[in-house]
Amino acid sequence: MARPKKKIDNKMDNKEKEIKKAKKAKKEILTVTGMRDLLPQDQKYWESVIKVGKKIANDYGYGKIDTPIVEYMDVFERGIGKQTDIVEKEMYTFIDQGGDELTLRPENTASVVRAYIQHGMINQTQPVKLYYYGPMFRHEKPQSGRYRQLYQFGFEAIGEISPALDAQLILMGWNILNDLGIESVIQVNSIGCTSCREEYKKALVKYYKSKGKDLCESCQKRLVKNPMRLLDCKEEGCEKLKIEAPQILDYLDEDCKKHFMKVIEYLDELDLPYVLNAQVVRGLDYYSKTIFEYWSADDSEGKTALGGGGRYDSLVGVLGGRQETPACGLSMGMDRIVAKLREKEIEVPEVYQPEVFVAQLGDAAKKKAFVMYEKLRRKGFKMSQAFYKDSLKAQLEIANKLKVKFTLIIGQKEIGEDTVLVRDMDGGIQEIVAYNKIENEMVKRMDKWRGEKLDKFTVDESDSSLPKPKKQKSDFGDFTSNEENDFEDKRSGKYDNMMDYGNDIDVY
Ligand code: AMP
Repeated sequence: MARPKKKIDNKMDNKEKEIKKAKKAKKEILTVTGMRDLLPQDQKYWESVIKVGKKIANDYGYGKIDTPIVEYMDVFERGIGKQTDIVEKEMYTFIDQGGDELTLRPENTASVVRAYIQHGMINQTQPVKLYYYGPMFRHEKPQSGRYRQLYQFGFEAIGEISPALDAQLILMGWNILNDLGIESVIQVNSIGCTSCREEYKKALVKYYKSKGKDLCESCQKRLVKNPMRLLDCKEEGCEKLKIEAPQILDYLDEDCKKHFMKVIEYLDELDLPYVLNAQVVRGLDYYSKTIFEYWSADDSEGKTALGGGGRYDSLVGVLGGRQETPACGLSMGMDRIVAKLREKEIEVPEVYQPEVFVAQLGDAAKKKAFVMYEKLRRKGFKMSQAFYKDSLKAQLEIANKLKVKFTLIIGQKEIGEDTVLVRDMDGGIQEIVAYNKIENEMVKRMDKWRGEKLDKFTVDESDSSLPKPKKQKSDFGDFTSNEENDFEDKRSGKYDNMMDYGNDIDVY
């Protein structure tokens, strides 16, 4: 008796093990900490930022550049600086199969400068003006507004020293936010050149050493390695100490002072909302002279800056290009801009707003609708359909949800008469149009509708890059009140009833 029992026990053990294993295997697989999916419903915000960014790039003569997401680690270590938070703590660096030490780009300025040098852009008309957008990777502590895969839209202008360039870049970043409907205040400062900074750093170290005990642990280390970063610290104790810290502006040499004054003059002339903020220092070694950040108008502490940039006159030389190649750039934080659009409930255009829906009922109609759809699509209409559905009711519900302007219906009756039923979804008016005239008729109707929309909004929404109030009326009263009808049953005659409710006008 004992033996079979043991067998059963063993079986149970195995089963339990299997269940445990299955449970473990079933453990949800999620995105990597600090990284996220951008789902279809998110895309309209991202596309709006890209659209506005591209418009600004075109308006100011910047050409697009795509650099690889992976670079040799050296590009960033040399470019950004060994002592910076990014290089010290935040880079995703790995050895690839071939033994090369590679890094997922934590930012794109160093990569763009690498490309500028590699492709001999020094021989082109200067400045070379480039823009980019895409993901960056920083192993930061994940928190609100701080991701490990973050997205930036940036501009780099390489090979020009004029302060007009600094001011124009500052304006461009501000324009992006403004065009998107986000109010921001520019925080501007100058950190001078290497020689002004040497004197300033000494004064800073002297000041902070006298306050040593009150500094946070990170700042104790920064004091030795990178004292200017102390001004960037958001810890409460360190924030207080900043107030009386020496200010870099008092240490600028004549040339840096003159450059900065010019930038400020331009900002004044442009009437931009800015404040001189001596505590903005930016975290990367390559900056010199003008630096700036964009803070949302409702963010007085700059905890989640929406973008920033500055001049980097020595970076080209540091990365092996010609010494004395001045440059200036800026980078907008797309994640934070999108978050702000959502927080402020700023309406942005849909990624794709179809205007014409094609519905069909019955096999012959489906075939004809397929062909008509292709004709209209190739003609350039913004189309939508659900040919995989047989039920007319289901199709019309989809058309309604999509907020199209017109639904073109081909059913049994239309097949017999070689016509198409055109339903204006706003007023419910229906017209019968000869099948062979449908393209021309739709061109006329769409032109008329777009003209009316233009009158109403004064700008063309069909190609809008700027967010604007957009409330499309979806009036499908007659149809929804007939929802109980079985539209699939052609023989019942109910389909014909549905068609009767509008004011049919024949257009033969
Ligand atoms: P930086 O390259 O550090 O000058 O950053 C430029 C902009 O990118 C910042 O002003 C932020 O808007 C954004 N940004 C930087 N780091 C992150 C991050 N970890 N998550 C989200 N956005 C970021």
